[in-house]
Amino acid sequence: MHYIDPHIHMVSRTTDDYEAMREAGIVAVIEPAFWLGQPRTTVGSFKDYFSMLVGWERFRASQFGIKHYCTIGLNSKEANNEELAEQVMEILPQFLAKEGVVAVGEIGYDDQSQAEDKYFRLQLELAKEFELPVMVHTPHRDKKNGTLRSMDVIQEHGIPEHMVVIDHNNEETVKHVLDRGFWAAFTIYPKTKMSKMRMVNIVNTYGSEKIIVDSSADWGVSDPLSVPRTAALMRENGIAEHHIHLTCYQNALTVYGQSGQFNESDWKQDHVVKQDDLHQGNSVLRGQEAKEINFKNSIGD
Ligand SMILES: [Zn+2]
Repeated sequence: MHYIDPHIHMVSRTTDDYEAMREAGIVAVIEPAFWLGQPRTTVGSFKDYFSMLVGWERFRASQFGIKHYCTIGLNSKEANNEELAEQVMEILPQFLAKEGVVAVGEIGYDDQSQAEDKYFRLQLELAKEFELPVMVHTPHRDKKNGTLRSMDVIQEHGIPEHMVVIDHNNEETVKHVLDRGFWAAFTIYPKTKMSKMRMVNIVNTYGSEKIIVDSSADWGVSDPLSVPRTAALMRENGIAEHHIHLTCYQNALTVYGQSGQFNESDWKQDHVVKQDDLHQGNSVLRGQEAKEINFKNSIGD
């Protein structure tokens, strides 16, 4: 069984994580541009971060047999630094046009401030201009209102619902999101918020249409294996394979595939990696002998 994790912050993760993810069946990941924990002070930090998402991290993932894609955007938290936000807006277009960029994101609300609203709307317009899907981060505080407000604003800007993933849903928001025709993603956390078992119950209640599972694993307490582990729990609880396939693979492919940058043929073939392959002169090795690894991806399932 193969999986896609359509929301994971790999720059914060280790090579052990990549190995374990591949071992568990993850063949492709989407890494949304986000806040790094430490607020950035200059636009150059954003530029280097975006360059890493489309460059080094994409290469690093490929060395472990995983195809890496990303979304580019100004996150809601840092939208509150307006002087910096203005400069970030200026560099976004050059990155949105890069190979492997599958959406504008993750954007939306954190504190639901005026500045957040301003840059959310400006970036929705960018998504229209670049004909890209949108990945929406919904706030952890006042979640329900923040989620409803996000959807109102998106509809106000005339973006079709099939182009938008609303992420970080829970039992309180899921019905609203699905009823209004958006994709509903769920971030499965190891200890808090949405758990694997609650996800099983959501699929039991709402089925698998337009529902997406992700890990959102980053530098905090999180689990890069949330997607395959949730799939395993669904299986244990008697959920049919086609629901697992849709929520843990196909739905992400369908929505982000609309970018034209996210194609199953990218990974559905055998992929030979030489560990001493270089990206701008650097490899992932630290002096050990380079092996050749053949990742068997010609999947029949
Ligand atoms: Zn995230």
